[in-house]
Amino acid sequence: MPRTQAQALDAADTLAPLRAQFALTEGEIYLDGNSLGVLPLTAAPRVAQAVTEEWGSGLIRSWNQAGWIDLPQRVGDQIARLIGAAPGEVVAADSTSINLYKVLHAALVANAREGRRVIVSERSNFPTDLYIAQSLAAQFGCTLELHEGAAIAQRLRSDVAVLMLTQVNYRSGAMHDMAALTAAAHGVGALALWDLCHSAGAVPVDLNGAGADFAIGCGYKYLNGGPGSPAFVWAHARHASARQPLTGWMGHANPFTFETRYQAAPGMARFLCGTPPVIALTALECGVQTLLAAEPLGGMAALRAKSLALTQLFIEQTRALPLTLVTPEEPAHRGSQVALACPADVNGYAVMQALIARGVIGDFRAGSDGAPDLLRFGFTPLYTRFVDAFDAAHLLADTLHSGVWKESRFAHKAAVT
Ligand SMILES: *Cc1c(COP(=O)(O)O)cnc(C)c1O
Repeated sequence: MPRTQAQALDAADTLAPLRAQFALTEGEIYLDGNSLGVLPLTAAPRVAQAVTEEWGSGLIRSWNQAGWIDLPQRVGDQIARLIGAAPGEVVAADSTSINLYKVLHAALVANAREGRRVIVSERSNFPTDLYIAQSLAAQFGCTLELHEGAAIAQRLRSDVAVLMLTQVNYRSGAMHDMAALTAAAHGVGALALWDLCHSAGAVPVDLNGAGADFAIGCGYKYLNGGPGSPAFVWAHARHASARQPLTGWMGHANPFTFETRYQAAPGMARFLCGTPPVIALTALECGVQTLLAAEPLGGMAALRAKSLALTQLFIEQTRALPLTLVTPEEPAHRGSQVALACPADVNGYAVMQALIARGVIGDFRAGSDGAPDLLRFGFTPLYTRFVDAFDAAHLLADTLHSGVWKESRFAHKAAVT
């Protein structure tokens, strides 16, 4: 495929105008929106306004007058539109890890009992999910069982309390069939809990359509909410009276009556804990709005079509390289990223550092427990062009073939990879 063909795809792309929403650096190809989304141009002035006007002038009055107190629900309702949830079913709060603690705890309170004490998850799940599950398994006298691939569904038997999965794998980019696995879990009386960190804003998600039980996800990846952005939490309406363990005052039915005894708020407000991080939620709202801006252009379905076309182009353009494609080629089985494994004689970390020096920003994920080191490339359809996917593939080829990555300056590992 010649580069002109990629240019033609960009010229025909009806989503192309959405790129103008972002503060992108000229000459740089950013393929790490699956780790930290790009700054929306609205965020800096909006956050500045929240700081100088709402905080600076409004001070304490802004809790009411600027609507600070409603931010978790207001931003949650906007996220709901991206994940197949109804208004009132999502709140933005805390981190993914903390929200997972709340919903996994709630699921175990509801469903773990004698003869049903297994939590099933995926061995290659994101570590924080496994760490939180390890802690709760110990607390509830449960066992956490980890499986891969088809063995996950096969393990679903009547002793399983909760199936806890991340829909799109952070390493491989492989995507689970949420509807099928949720149905399989329900078939044996288990609850289905989904982590949407790599799916919210990346692929169409239909939580209510799948009939899932609980979900959580990240604000700073495809939702472009900024570093350390609040996460979100969803519970199906049938779990409206679920009990979550972090019973802080913001989840109380009447926080400002200052009662001695905790009484959970009706609905999703009960999943809140402490005071909302107003500045961070203000930035997250700007990020979520960059996705809602796609609604008149076909929304998540259109973004998904472009994402698959981008990842397909990149897969094809890197096929001849001495790297192994880890991401499933079947479109229904992959999210919005491509992961390539390096052979033993190639230092993947150094390759990524050399590639970043050429202006292509992806990231490196070390393998553990026998899994290979990976080069990871996220394709955010809001701002990635077809020429970016094309150029990134050819700069990667050049980085490998020239051997430039062997220079010692690319070998130094920083704290965050
Ligand atoms: C990014 C990510 C997280 C991050 O959790 P934090 O609490 O925000 O640090 C958790 N789980 C998965 C699957 C992720 O991809």
